[in-house]
Amino acid sequence: MSASRGSDVRMPAYDVVFFDLDGTLHLSGEPFPCLPEFINATAERYGTTFVAVTNNTSMPPDQYRQKLLKMGLRPEAFELCSPLNVLAAASADDMPRNVFPLATQDVADFLVEHGYETSSPYPAAVLATFDVEVDYAKLSAACQHLTNGAQLYSTHVDIRCPTASGFIPDCGALTHLLESVTSTETVRDFGKPSEQMAAYLRRKHLSAGERAVIVGDRLYTDVALGHAMKIDSVLVLSGEARADDPGLQSDSRPTFVHESFLAFLQTVYTPDEGAPSVKSYAAV
Ligand SMILES: [Mg+2]
Repeated sequence: MSASRGSDVRMPAYDVVFFDLDGTLHLSGEPFPCLPEFINATAERYGTTFVAVTNNTSMPPDQYRQKLLKMGLRPEAFELCSPLNVLAAASADDMPRNVFPLATQDVADFLVEHGYETSSPYPAAVLATFDVEVDYAKLSAACQHLTNGAQLYSTHVDIRCPTASGFIPDCGALTHLLESVTSTETVRDFGKPSEQMAAYLRRKHLSAGERAVIVGDRLYTDVALGHAMKIDSVLVLSGEARADDPGLQSDSRPTFVHESFLAFLQTVYTPDEGAPSVKSYAAV
């Protein structure tokens, strides 16, 4: 899709920009300077579709979206996708409807709102998420369901979540605990860089002929999702990855490396010489 405001509008290199959040848009909840404003301006001027893609399943997507609005993104400038959106759209073949959610109450409520049965004493599946309300009783119940034949699914594979004061256990750590105790293996997950997430993003956010890119600070989730979607990828050095990362020399390397998301956007959305630039537009 392209912008249609005014005669000086140029087509950008990409129609759709998927982007990561922590380490890419913000660091520990603090947005990188000028970045939300630049995204707002680019979306308005060029009609570029921005899609925030997060693996965070500690809260429903709408709650997470509110956090991004508070960081300065305008509501019309972006959409948001988490593994919970993928689950909401999943078929019964992808994910049983009768589940025991190892999840926060808000996420459990989200699943019920989207057709999942979560109160059965004999669930067909246990769904591990980034459950920041987890306790021993819930872990025990999940293990007992798995021991009794339920299958294990998870929203995403991240082992740990970085915070300003250190790492905390993420969904992958809880999943490993369940696998270890019950000698089971996870059937599938729905986050970056899974095929389920890749197929969902293509179906939901990409039209035929549109050019897309994904921007993120991790090779094994963000850049890997770009490979899964067969689109360009940008590794930014504002978060986890470093310029000397061995992965940059491997087959899983990104299409481009930039210091920051803003640096990439300023490169891509500055049209040819003589044409108006988003850079100058955003600075006005
Ligand atoms: Mg990140």
